[in-house]
This record gives sequence, C-alpha cells and structure tokens, in this order.
Amino acid sequence: MKYISTRGAAERRGFSEILLEGLAPDGGLYLPERYPQVDTATLKAWRRLSYADLAFQILSLYIDDIPADDLHGICRRTYTEAVFGTPQIVPLKTLQPKLHLEALSNGPTLAFKDMAMQLLGQLFEYELGRRGQTLNILGATSGDTGSAAEYAMRGKRGVRVFMLSPHGRMSPFQQAQMFSLQDENIHNLVVQGVFDDCQDIVKAVSNDLAFKRRYRIGTVNSINWARLLAQVVYYFAGYFQATEEDGQPVSFTVPSGNFGNICAGHVARMMGLPIARLVCATNENDVLDEFFRTGTYRVRASAETHETSSPSMDISKASNFERFVYDLLGRDGQRTAALFRDAVEGDGRFTLAPEDFARVPRDFGFVSGRSTHADRLATIRHCFDRYGVMIDTHTADGLKVALERRDPQVPMIVLETALPVKFAATIREALGREPDRPAALDGIEAAPKRFTVVPADVQAVKDHIARHCPELSAGVAAASGG
Ligand SMILES: *Cc1c(COP(=O)(O)O)cnc(C)c1O
Repeated sequence: MKYISTRGAAERRGFSEILLEGLAPDGGLYLPERYPQVDTATLKAWRRLSYADLAFQILSLYIDDIPADDLHGICRRTYTEAVFGTPQIVPLKTLQPKLHLEALSNGPTLAFKDMAMQLLGQLFEYELGRRGQTLNILGATSGDTGSAAEYAMRGKRGVRVFMLSPHGRMSPFQQAQMFSLQDENIHNLVVQGVFDDCQDIVKAVSNDLAFKRRYRIGTVNSINWARLLAQVVYYFAGYFQATEEDGQPVSFTVPSGNFGNICAGHVARMMGLPIARLVCATNENDVLDEFFRTGTYRVRASAETHETSSPSMDISKASNFERFVYDLLGRDGQRTAALFRDAVEGDGRFTLAPEDFARVPRDFGFVSGRSTHADRLATIRHCFDRYGVMIDTHTADGLKVALERRDPQVPMIVLETALPVKFAATIREALGREPDRPAALDGIEAAPKRFTVVPADVQAVKDHIARHCPELSAGVAAASGG
C-alpha cells in the first residue's frame, strides 16, 4: 500500500515513511491510494476476534512495510485490558434498544485520543529503533492531546516529549494528569501565556529548519495518518457489538472538532462497513455543521472561536476535513488544492458546487447537528435521569444530535469521547453532584508535579530543548561562537 497527498503531488510513499511526518511536502494530507474492501465473509470472520487481533487485521491492509509478526506484537502490546480497563477495550453501553454509547475513553487519560496515541507510541518506538534514530516531539496542548501523547510516549526508547501548555489554564485534574508523570523523557513546559502563544512558539520552532533538523523535532498532531488508521478499528468493533448479522446497517454519531474521529468513520464506510449515517455533532463552534447544512466551509478567526464547556471541540478550522473533500471530489488533487490552498488559505472559505454538495449525504452518508451549553446540561441530566448513565460534555453534544438525527429502525452508536471526571464543573452544574472517578485516579491532584515554567518566548523554549538533548547539542555552543 502506498500513500498519496490530497493535493495531487505525484510521489507515492510507504507507511513507515509517512509515520513520523506531518503534512505532505505539497501541503496536503496523506491518504492511502485506495481503500481495501471488506466483504461480508470477512466481516463474519472478524466478528469473533479480540480487539487487538481485529486491529492487526485492519492495520495489515494498510501497512506492508512492517513484518506481520512485529505488527501483531505491537497491536497486542497496545490494546490490553491492563491499559484500557476491560477485555472488550471499547465496550458498548446500551441506553435503550438500538441506542448505544461506545466507550472509547477508558485509556490512561480518560479520552478517546488514547485509542490512537497508545498505538502511535508503540509504532514510534519500533520505527525509531529500526532506524537507529531519536525523535523529539514538540507540541502545544490545552488538555486532551498533550496528556494522551505523554502517556503514550512515557518511557519509550528514542522519544522525548516537550509539551507546552498555558499557565493556569488547564483544569486541576488535567494539570495533575500531565504534571504527575515522573518519566525522564517527558518535559512539561508551562508557558506564561495563553494557548495561542504556545501554538505560535511550536510553529516558530518548527519553521526554523536548521533547529528542527538538528534537534529532530516531530509532532503527533491529529493529521497523522497512523492516528486516523488506529481509529478505524473501533468503528468495526462497535459495529460487531451492535449487530448480530453481517450486512445490517448501523449509524454513528461523532462529537467532532478537527474531523479526525469522524474521518476514520468515513474510511471504515469506504472500506465497506455497513454504515448508514455518519452524524457529525459540533458545539457552538459549528464550522462543520455549517458545511453539512449549506455546502459552505468557512474557517473562523480566533475572536470568533468560542470557549465552551466541551473545550476539545473548540476549533476554528477542521484540520482533517481536506481528506473527506478529496474523496468527495473523486480524488481530484487539483480541485482539492484549489479549494484548500487557494480558497481556504486565501479568504478562508469555499462553497461546493450544488452537484458535489448533493453527494455528501447521498453517497457519503454525512449529516450533522449542533449543540450548545444549555443542550449539554439538559442532555447530561436526561441521560442520567432516564438511563442512570453519567456522560461527559462532549459525549452529551453527540447524544443530543444523535437523538435528533436517529432513524428508530437503525441502531445508533454515539461515540463516548471522554469521561465526566475530566469536566467536573459542568457535571456539577448539570447534576449538582461530583462526577464518578475511576479509583486509580483518586487523589491524583496531590501527587508530586514535574514541570518547568518558561516565558512565552521562542528562544527560551529552544534553549530548554537544547539543554535536554545533550547528545544533539554537542558542539553547538562552539559552532555558534558561544
Ligand atoms: C479531540 C476530542 C474531540 C474531537 O475529535 P476530532 O477528532 O478532533 O474531531 C471530541 N471529544 C474529545 C473529548 C476530544 O478529546
């Protein structure tokens, strides 16, 4: 299997080549050159597999440059009951017949990003070991992504993580989760600024190509193909739990931000998994809902991006969306480049031609909806009162939209993307009580913390990285004259 760019560059690359990379050189995103097809007989055979073995089967269709035994070992080391809490890994909770939650947030950081990031940690360690290389992952986080990356990379050989977070902006629980890690290869840099400052610093460091090369700077952001691929697996696992017969359709509702999670659902559907509808749920930051309603994709300015009580969906543009549009346009790289490079990167918007827009629900199954703070509160209450199940704010956005968009004949699976304990303030507001907390995390706020406060300054961050990479810094001071 080779990978190609959504913007039409001719070069085709192997999985291991793109594993450690972000964007394709032409600014596009990587996609497989075709989607392997899964028929009913294959579904039948896969239905009885463990999650790790199912992951291995699906990944094998997309990865042909890692020996099968090694890949199987990687999947089995990643998806264990010890890490994800149950033997099913992503158990279904049935609220009522044909209405389910799929629990994706029982990993170490209690959000679904662990599903992909834990695999990425194993793949990175494997690939770097094979090449005899090291990698320094630099990122900015306001919560879920950074902690998922740190818990995936902690203790991994050949990898260090430098994670920037804004001073005093994360919840006490999120800070405790990240800062309590004592692993030598994890570096928490608390920036005296806001999240945008953190992001700007990451960009500035990555744009210094000499520094980037010398210090082997990499990222783990949501456009990474391996992350998306890992997420395809739980659409199959959810399907098998919600159906008894292969071929029976189901629908999924996905609380969406950067369009990574639901894009994995799109890939599963393109492979032939019988998905009737992919329901895209947004919060007040409704870039995607606007697109699915109108055919116009319009990115927002930071001033127009709202801070909400489902913060992991607070996005101004959806960084994986280009992948879907490429498929929608018949995989025409020139047209995709015209929309994203010329239009979006120009005046921040495009509108699809009516005949293309008509295909979005008809041929690709996408519909959408939007949820607000008041909807979240009402949905958290409804779910708790009616079903006795406590859900987090992001899952509540999903459930709210799922109930509007559901066809009673077709099982609906709502992806649970985080646990309520991460968003305690809104749970208290909705239910007047504290969220349940997994026993392992009792008292985490009191654990010793390990972090360094730095000014919102690019040089200060570079200096910190250089100081902590002695094997790469040797001779730098002399070469630059001190
Ligand atoms: C990241 C995240 C989302 C959004 O997922 P995308 O892949 O960016 O669409 C939703 N909910 C939670 C809890 C998240 O952490």
